[in-house]
Amino acid sequence: MKHESIRKSFEDFLRTRELKLTSQRERIFERAFATHEHFSAEQLYDWLRAEPGPRVSRATVYRTIGLLAEGGFLGSLDVGRGELVYEHLLGHRHHDHMVCTECGRIEEFHDERIEALQREACDRKGFVLLSHSHRLVGLCRGCARRRGVASGGKGAPSAGESGGSP
Ligand SMILES: [Zn+2]
Ligand SMILES: [Zn+2]
Ligand SMILES: [Zn+2]
Repeated sequence: MKHESIRKSFEDFLRTRELKLTSQRERIFERAFATHEHFSAEQLYDWLRAEPGPRVSRATVYRTIGLLAEGGFLGSLDVGRGELVYEHLLGHRHHDHMVCTECGRIEEFHDERIEALQREACDRKGFVLLSHSHRLVGLCRGCARRRGVASGGKGAPSAGESGGSP
């Protein structure tokens, strides 16, 4: 999907809420789609404050990011640190995440075998899959090394979705 048409559909989405694409909202939208990093609302606010452009309040940043997430323009990810991180979804290939509980690093991965197994599991239950987010929680390579924990050992047999927070 082209950037121009994404902005157009955000404008359409705002209209359904009787909101307008103000220069502040546009700036937030543009900044969110200009990065391929994962960012928190606070981080985006810091970027906007450091860069030239129309003044945007923290509240507007949080509200607009909320709208972007509601409209499916941004995906959110709970990294277990009390704040969600976001990334743009449209124009970004599907991937899943590994989250380091130590340093907060986020690794992206995509494995077609896992994707296929998920689809099969849903088929067996007659479950109609609309979307999924697969989040693995653990230690990144650097943190594992510092802690003297090796990866690739005999991990839990089902290293699947681990929901709980650390
Ligand atoms: Zn996936
Ligand atoms: Zn780490
Ligand atoms: Zn990602």
